[in-house]
Amino acid sequence: MPHSLDCLILGGGIAGLWTLRTLLAEGYDAALVETNALGSRQTIASQGILHAGTKYALTGHAAQASKAASEAAAIWRDCLQSPSEPRTSVRGPALPDLSTTKILSPHTHLFTTPGLPSRLTALAASKALAIGPKKLSPPNRPPPFTAAPPGVDLYQLDEPVLDIPSLLETLAVPVRDRLIHANDVELSWDRLPAGASPSEKCPNRTRKTIAIITTDSGTLALHPRVLICTAGSGNEALLAQLGLAADIPMQRRPLHMTVARFSEPGVSVSPLPPRPTGGGESGGLPLLYAHCISLSDKPRATITTPIDALGRRVWLIGGQLAETGTARSPHDQIAATKAELTKILPWLDLSRLEFTTFRIDRAEGAHPDSRRPDTPVVRCEESVIACWPTKLVLAPLATAEIFTHLRALGITPLPSKDPEASPPALPFAHLPFAISPPGLATPPWDREDTPWT
Ligand SMILES: Cc1cc2nc3c(=O)[nH]c(=O)nc-3n(C[C@H](O)[C@H](O)[C@H](O)COP(=O)(O)OP(=O)(O)OC[C@H]3O[C@@H](n4cnc5c(N)ncnc54)[C@H](O)[C@@H]3O)c2cc1C
Repeated sequence: MPHSLDCLILGGGIAGLWTLRTLLAEGYDAALVETNALGSRQTIASQGILHAGTKYALTGHAAQASKAASEAAAIWRDCLQSPSEPRTSVRGPALPDLSTTKILSPHTHLFTTPGLPSRLTALAASKALAIGPKKLSPPNRPPPFTAAPPGVDLYQLDEPVLDIPSLLETLAVPVRDRLIHANDVELSWDRLPAGASPSEKCPNRTRKTIAIITTDSGTLALHPRVLICTAGSGNEALLAQLGLAADIPMQRRPLHMTVARFSEPGVSVSPLPPRPTGGGESGGLPLLYAHCISLSDKPRATITTPIDALGRRVWLIGGQLAETGTARSPHDQIAATKAELTKILPWLDLSRLEFTTFRIDRAEGAHPDSRRPDTPVVRCEESVIACWPTKLVLAPLATAEIFTHLRALGITPLPSKDPEASPPALPFAHLPFAISPPGLATPPWDREDTPWT
């Protein structure tokens, strides 16, 4: 006999976890199934920047992306501050308390290479931007830009950078009883015949959507009123199981990211505080949370500095370098990264760095010309919702859109059988076997089989 619940979420990256937290806070009976570890694809690989729109405004034709990022960044700011602080973002569904998430840096920087004709100055002045970049004159520059040669312009953006493992943990721990680690998910549903009337499309408990969840300890059948697919690139296979892959297409945009760290054992193992403040850089790599701007519409390179499992700083290097590097071998990508670092940070001695690379696809709702969508893509077919947030920062907007679909479908939380129970009792609490939650994903630079050269 399948266990009924309001919403079953498939995929525990940022989109799934944010949605689960919100659904539970709004009184829905919901659970999340993850077939690997939480955040194990894009989210753990992400650079953790809460873009507030300025980067997109550099293109000059991405007003919608800029507006969405700015709106979402305001929601994140509310979540990251103490819950007692007044909320400033537009009212929407309940927000998760993320005040214990580690912030790697309160801001990012934009920097130019010497001789770049600056359109950033005009950008800074633009009233269209919610958060304009502040130009930093040489005496006010933080390391490592204190030693930058003349001609390097530096701007500060109020875009925090999050520690992703800490974010995943903050989101997951309060709802761990609602998380299911599965080895396999098998889906089936009674889809309405083509031409069904709108009233027939309202999903209810008679419409059969069944998810057979195989776990290490047993098999579980769940019957959700609504199925929410937030599995990133895994959405494609899930939607194919339901015959929806063509109705709700997705796209992959590949990246070849590079990671750098100091190779000297004495330097590389020196423990660092888990939450660097962006100030000193005694030992280890300089703290960099910065986009090097070129005349193209994309940053030439974007460098962030996550902390590895041993407390060492590593540089995660993306931007255009990662996009153009998809055709390169790891060896060639490392060579290209070294050459690029020498050009964009010529005043730093980076000769003692060692490198690795990893490949990752950005999974998004399909865009007609395969470009990055400006906003989250959330599509609904009867009782199935598929969601790609497009960016980490846009996850709150993706969840808000899921709620819009739930409302349109007439799905509101069912009254709890036990009014004292909050959140409602687990639908699978009485199973004869225990349900284990998934673990947290390991960042690519912490994996034991990662080759460094
Ligand atoms: C290198 C890189 C850097 C980025 N940097 C930034 C940044 O700085 N700022 C920003 O805003 N955005 C950034 N992004 C984009 C952002 O990371 C993604 O948009 C976001 O993480 C997508 O989250 P998601 O939850 O949709 O997918 P994912 O994080 O990919 O999560 C999907 C989850 O679903 C699980 N899954 C897969 N198949 C199944 C299945 N059949 N059943 C159950 N579970 C399944 C996976 O194991 C995974 O845990 C970056 C992306 C990349 C790749």
